[in-house]
Amino acid sequence: MKNWAELRRLLVRKVHFHYHYPTTMKKQLPIPALAFAFGFASALSASAQFYGDPPDETHPWAVHDMNRPQPRKVVPGKTPGAPPSDAVVLFDGTDKALKGNWLHLKQKRKGDWKVVDKVMQCTPGAGNLRSKPEFGDCQLHVEWAEPANISGSGQGRGNSGIFLMGIAEVQVLDNYENQTYPDGSAGSLYGVMPPMVNPLKKAGEWQVYDIIFRRPVFRDGKLVDQGSMTVTLNGVLVLDHTPLEGGGGHKKRSKPKPFPEKGPLVLQDHGNPVRFRNVWYRELPKRPVDGGTDGQLSPEATAKKRAEIAADIRKDAAKKSGKDKMLRLMESLCYQDDKPTVAEIDKLGDAFIKEIKSTPGNKIEGRRNEVLQVNNAVNYLVRNKRMPADWALSKDLEAIIKANGWGKKK
Ligand code: MG
Repeated sequence: MKNWAELRRLLVRKVHFHYHYPTTMKKQLPIPALAFAFGFASALSASAQFYGDPPDETHPWAVHDMNRPQPRKVVPGKTPGAPPSDAVVLFDGTDKALKGNWLHLKQKRKGDWKVVDKVMQCTPGAGNLRSKPEFGDCQLHVEWAEPANISGSGQGRGNSGIFLMGIAEVQVLDNYENQTYPDGSAGSLYGVMPPMVNPLKKAGEWQVYDIIFRRPVFRDGKLVDQGSMTVTLNGVLVLDHTPLEGGGGHKKRSKPKPFPEKGPLVLQDHGNPVRFRNVWYRELPKRPVDGGTDGQLSPEATAKKRAEIAADIRKDAAKKSGKDKMLRLMESLCYQDDKPTVAEIDKLGDAFIKEIKSTPGNKIEGRRNEVLQVNNAVNYLVRNKRMPADWALSKDLEAIIKANGWGKKK
């Protein structure tokens, strides 16, 4: 038993199902009932694999599939906005981070971006700043503040910008009380889409961006996904999967275009001393449309993934023997049909049936759970058309269950 929480969940469900406990008892299984239910423990832990709907044409995994990899552990930041354990921190308030993680794009420039009071500040004339790391799809966190001394108007007030992959700009601007064209407001995908609302704080206060970026995907020169920008500004959703339409720009309407695999994060020098702090990102897993291998996939990708999963399970089965090996091999049939595997299951099945049949009458009750466990797996495979309804193993098990009165009480 590798997972007690999962096992307990199953036990609670099964006990509830068979014995009609009131619903309030679902969460608080009494200890005697739990102890009683342990009689089924070994049967249920393995039958968890023959549980939800099996893989299909576009889903490589079963519903509730315990073979599916567990989500990777990530330790969240201690405070809201703090980088989680798997984040790449681009700026943490130190000179070292500015020098180590960022490059000036302009060769001939008046001054450099600098760190003042643990904050990275644009020096007008320094030009744009780019991150050394390059990345594509990401979750990005950036905090920024406008100069407290307000000057300028329209696009001239506290203008900067955050360019994902150096191409698509999420605008940085002080339009707290400063009208400008809506698709150039803070929270806009510049030149493409205005923010849904204006949740800015006044100049001088810290503003928080959390951005989910998905780059466009082209296949064989054809657009399959425009990519998207999702943004919250100060915790308020301002862009929701906004299609990139090529990334936007000044005055000209952009058109969908391929992006490279990766690109730098670019912070804009638009002539205003805008400040930044706490900049980090996490790279995101690929979408199915971009070659990702989880979720709903193309039939080709699904078949490939299912073959991989089945091969892994067969490899694991090879380390086992007897009934456990048989069950593991049966699992592999959920993902991929394989003649040698079926032949081996039948051989192991024959041995199992022989063993049960030769169990003395005074010991047979001790084999009940094993038989029901195997029968559950066999029924699952037949029900889901992995094995034929006239499967000999299925008939043999039925006969044993009937002879011993182990069938479900009607
Ligand atoms: Mg800008």
